[in-house]
Amino acid sequence: MTDFITIAIDGGAGTGKSTLSSLLSEKNNYLYVETGSHYRALTCILLKQGLAPENVTNFVNENPVVIESEIIKKRSYIVINQSNFISENLRSQNVNENVSYFAAIPALRKSLFNYQRSQINLARRENFSGVILEGRDIGTKILPDADLKVFLHADINTRIQRRNTDGESDTIIKRDQIDSNRKDAPLACAEGALSIDTGKYSAQEVYDIVMESVNSF
Ligand code: C5P
Repeated sequence: MTDFITIAIDGGAGTGKSTLSSLLSEKNNYLYVETGSHYRALTCILLKQGLAPENVTNFVNENPVVIESEIIKKRSYIVINQSNFISENLRSQNVNENVSYFAAIPALRKSLFNYQRSQINLARRENFSGVILEGRDIGTKILPDADLKVFLHADINTRIQRRNTDGESDTIIKRDQIDSNRKDAPLACAEGALSIDTGKYSAQEVYDIVMESVNSF
């Protein structure tokens, strides 16, 4: 058993990343970092500035941001220029429709890279037994050195149904297309990742499959 574990979880929208990550974090002493919320927070800022994606690179380069974390109940939340996004609707239709366009911009991704990696040291400093980062490029780009990489997938109808159950207006097919086809850090299954079809299992079963791997370290 290692004394500290790093877990990378990737997959498209509605594949069960946050359900699995929440269970892992609740049942173990792991810090949970939802990297999609980082892109959503930056998208909120850029939409408020009225910026079109083609003007984002200059804006990001000319306006570097200070990024910090706030931990609440084993979850790490992003704080940008001293503002947190807890009261912001990061899952509004406007953010859902725009986030993948902004997330495809290399300068924007670069502005988050060190921050996302720094979550490992944050979790160690705060005496967690591990850290879970979930997103699209965690196993391939952010934590290619993670102890455990997991890739979740499910058929599209299952995923759309899950989003409807959440009451969310989302464009997951469109987002998948943009996320999978962008040049910089596309959504992909990392080499050596444990690949799970979450449509075939209950949330508890997915958790058990992952814990079997965790316990093998
Ligand atoms: O995970 P979530 O659906 O909240 O992510 C919102 C969007 O943020 C994704 O559709 C994707 O465009 C972007 N994202 C990303 N890389 C990550 C996490 C999210 O590009 N690691």
